[in-house]
Parts: sequence; structure tokens; C-alpha cells
Amino acid sequence: MKTMEICPVCKTEFIPLYTFAFKDYSVFTCPSCRVRFSKPFIDNSEVYKSEYIRKREVYLGGTNLDYKSIPSLEPYMNLVNKKILDIGCGMGCFLEKLKNDNDVLGLEVSHNFESFLIEKGVPYKIGDIENNLLSLPDSYYDLITFWDVFEHLYDPLKILTMVKDKLSPDGIIINWTNNYDDSISLFAEMSYRLSFGNLRFLMEQSFNRMSGHNYNFVFETLDFIYRQTEFKILDTIITDTPAERLTESITMRFLLNLFYVFNKIFKKGKIICHILIR
Ligand SMILES: [Zn+2]
Repeated sequence: MKTMEICPVCKTEFIPLYTFAFKDYSVFTCPSCRVRFSKPFIDNSEVYKSEYIRKREVYLGGTNLDYKSIPSLEPYMNLVNKKILDIGCGMGCFLEKLKNDNDVLGLEVSHNFESFLIEKGVPYKIGDIENNLLSLPDSYYDLITFWDVFEHLYDPLKILTMVKDKLSPDGIIINWTNNYDDSISLFAEMSYRLSFGNLRFLMEQSFNRMSGHNYNFVFETLDFIYRQTEFKILDTIITDTPAERLTESITMRFLLNLFYVFNKIFKKGKIICHILIR
């Protein structure tokens, strides 16, 4: 008999009709808010070892590139003399560009990013996100960003509630996260299901728990979280991460780009980004 699960986001109790089972964890889909979550969760302070950071530097250094970060924020905020908080700041690439003209702070859970943050001269606090948020002044920050971070948290609803206290009255939040309502995730899920769980590789890659993902979202889940925290969506960006940043393999890049074509046709994307206001 299947045991009941509780959705860690919307708290709905449900009997899982379909589970993706992997070696060390399972992935459940909440029938109510549609979030996908792994059980057990993975501790992100353990994921980003130096070896992992070296291997994924092209990806982690991504905020150096134009496709996310500063140019994309110009329509929403003039980034001069602002107070900016980047949650899950990683190597500090986003804040490095802004630190001279603004008052910036990065929060990070992994000690292995510390040397990069020191080298870039980015002010930071390392440790538990909730504890570090509690130590910050209320109604202070003009811009609070989550770049590829929401899916790594244990309790995104709680963190967004806490973050709201730290946001200035006219402040904005950027939530750039994953979206499993896209052609890659659909293909991965089909390959798992049609093979009765024998073809797990694509689904495992797609959920990406090895990179610290505890969640995969769709719009419904994020909308639920924003309604609970009383945020409004000012704008939505749906996009994909350039294939050359994800893999060195020419074949994999070709396949990813093929999926991206389908995503474009159907107006889907593996990335969903929301600009939020009160
Ligand atoms: Zn739920």
C-alpha cells in the first residue's frame, strides 16, 4: 500500500499515483500545486565542492553573460545607488558588476564559494539562509534576486515570506528558476514512463538533483507561492539556457538546441523568470 505524502509547498496530503524512483531519492508530483519535489532533500552546502565548481565554472559564471543579469533588469530598475541582496550568490558574478555603484550583499550556503567572493571583493554572508536573512535590516533592499536558487531551497514559501520583510516598499524581486513545463522535461518524463522506469537518465538529468535541486516548478506552483506571500507578477520571461553553457559535447548541444526549437514553437522554456512587486 502506498503511503501518504505531504506537499512541502502547499501542504496538500496525497497518495502518490506516480513516482520517479532513483538510486538515493524519489521525485513526487503534488496533484494540487503541481510542484515536483525530491525526497529526501539534498543539502546544498554539501553539493558545491571545489571539484564540482571547477567542472561547472562556465555555468556558474553565467551571470557574466548578458542573457540574464544586469541588461535584463534595466527596464525595471536603474541599478545605481541601490541596495541589492543576491540570495545564493555563488561565485558573486552578479554582484561583482554592481558593487561599485551600489550597496550589495550576497548570501551563500556553501563555504566553497568563499575564495571567489573574496577575490571579487563582493560582501557576503555564508551559512544558513534563514539565519542570515534574520540578521538583515527590515524594509531595506531595493532589489532582491534569486538566480537559479529557488529550486535549491528547502522551503521556498517561507524564504519568500522572510524576504518580503527585507524588501523596501518599492523594491522588486527577481526569481529566475526552472520550469518543467517544457519539451525537454516532457520527453524525459515520457522516456521514464514508457520504459517503466528503466530509462531514468533523462528524467534524472532533467530534475537535476545532483546539482542541488530539491524542486522543479511550473507556473501553477509559483503562482500559489506568490499569492500566499502577496506578491504581484510584474513581468514573466520564459527562456532556455544556451546549450554551450550546459555541456561541452557537440551531440548534446545539438539535441538541446533541437528541443529549444520545439520550446520556441510552443512558447515554452526550461527557465521561468518572474519580476515581482508588492
Ligand atoms: Zn503542492
